[in-house]
Amino acid sequence: MNDYRLREELEKLRFLRRAQLQQLKRVDGWIAAAQKRLRDAEAATPPAPPASPVREWVAYTPLNARQPVEIHRAHCFVKFAKQQTRAITTAEAVQLLGMGAVACEGCRPDPGVSVG
Ligand SMILES: [Zn+2]
Repeated sequence: MNDYRLREELEKLRFLRRAQLQQLKRVDGWIAAAQKRLRDAEAATPPAPPASPVREWVAYTPLNARQPVEIHRAHCFVKFAKQQTRAITTAEAVQLLGMGAVACEGCRPDPGVSVG
């Protein structure tokens, strides 16, 4: 190849590089626009409501008592015979057991909860 052809080839390569840089700049613009649309969509989406705590336990409080005296599993058959029950979380079950409530003999609450 003579110098003329080498210069011509070099000029073509430089042209190709400029064209590709322009194309890359356009793609960067499209990416920035898509990112903005995503941020706007996320900002317009209301936050999910906080998950309600799982109530897998039931506390039984007799009419004449001030606080629960028994803790049952939510599906315990014994609790259905008792009207004064309310659903509680595991944390509440542990707290009530620590305060003197007893674990049901019928449903034998989960060993993951410290039952005495
Ligand atoms: Zn029970």
